[in-house]
Parts: sequence; C-alpha cells; structure tokens
Amino acid sequence: MRILIANDDGYLAPGLTALVRACEGLGDIDVVAPESNASGTSNALTLHRPLNVFTAGGEQRGFRVVNGTPSDCVHVALTGLLERKPDLVLSGINNGANMGDDTLYSGTVAAAMEGYLFGVPAIAFSQAEKGWAEIEAAARVARDIVDRALAAVRERPGPWLLNVNIPNRPDAAALPRVITRLGRRHASEPVIRQINPRGEAIYWIGPAGSAREAGEGTDFFAVSQGRVSITPLQVDLTDHAALPLWHQALVAS
Ligand code: MN
Repeated sequence: MRILIANDDGYLAPGLTALVRACEGLGDIDVVAPESNASGTSNALTLHRPLNVFTAGGEQRGFRVVNGTPSDCVHVALTGLLERKPDLVLSGINNGANMGDDTLYSGTVAAAMEGYLFGVPAIAFSQAEKGWAEIEAAARVARDIVDRALAAVRERPGPWLLNVNIPNRPDAAALPRVITRLGRRHASEPVIRQINPRGEAIYWIGPAGSAREAGEGTDFFAVSQGRVSITPLQVDLTDHAALPLWHQALVAS
C-alpha cells in the first residue's frame, strides 16, 4: 500500500505530523507538503515560476517540501516526484473546519481533490475548531477511517473523494460518524479596511460567514451534534437541473 499525504497548513503544521504518525505501519508513506501556510488557495497551480522541492529534517524528517500550493504538492508528486502512483491520497489534518462552501476555497480539500482528479481515491481531514486542541484524538479518527477506506479501495478501486470534519474532543474516536451532504454558509463577513504606515488603504479578507443551511443531514449539523462528518464529494459543477431552462432562455429560437 502506498499513501501520499499532503496538507495546506504547511509542512510544519502539527496536524500533518499527527496524520503521518497515525498512518505508520500502513505501507509506504510519502509526504509532500507546502513550505508555508497555503490555506484558502483552493485548487491553484503555480504556472509562472518553477517549483523547488527540498527534503525536511528534524521532526519532519523525510517530508518533501514544495514552495507552492497544496495542489502543486500533489500534482508534482503524482507527475514526477513519486516512482509509483499511490493507492490513496490523504490531506490534513487541517487547522479548522472545511464544511459547506469552505470546500470551494479549501486547500486541504483541493490537495485531496488533485489526487481524485488523477484517479486516486482521496480523503481530506479537518478539525472542526482551529488551534490543534485534541489533534491526537483527531488523528486516531483519521487512522480508523483510513483503515476502513483501504478496505473500500480494494472493493471499489475507482476514484472517490471524502471530506471529513472531526470535532476537537478527547473522545473523538468514540463519537458517532455520519455520512453528510454539504451545508451552505452565509456570504463571508465584509473586508476589514485599515490604513498602512504609508497612509494607504489596505484590506483584510473577512472571516467566513456563519452556517445558513445547517439542517439535519448537513456537515454543519453533524459537527454541531458532536459527530464526525463524512461527506462524499464530486467535482462536476454543472447545474444539471438548469440545462433545459438555459437552453430555452438562450438557445432555442
Ligand atoms: Mn488550512
């Protein structure tokens, strides 16, 4: 079994080390992660400069580090760095939730999605709250899900993509797990305008909006009930239901 692990918080993030340690003994593990925090970079690829790869030392010994985005890491790994295609791509464990609309902006989900786009089953893991509290408990949940997913890989080798959000609790491994759909968030908070020391206006992107569609069956609901949320994702953004409507409005004579 070959597993590729990436993240978006950067190679020094505690969530990455915890996930790698939790997967020890599963087979050959390659870690390819961004040099710095690349949260919120979505599926961006670096196209206008080359990428450097170095091998980390210390606690991150053996991790391959890329001065790029999470998608760059998985892309470079799958198309040139690794000798063989992995059986599974894992991403995380992220510092904070990736639920509802977050999944469109998330580098954590994007790293897993890059594997999925290359035909490799993939799982993105996030902790519900920022700050790394109970990260070891979250890593135990991740390991258990990986164990069960590996059995699923043997039965269903085709690519699939799972998005997992884990409450920050010491008993996370004992929490119920539910298969969920994505909820929706309200539009994010307004930008925060400040004046820099040169007297120029600068803008900070505001925090994500609160949950808007968070009813039963959603990822938001599951996590609010103290459950581990597992959402199967797909990539097709087509609004299938609207195809006839737009044909009528814009094409038909
Ligand atoms: Mn992140």
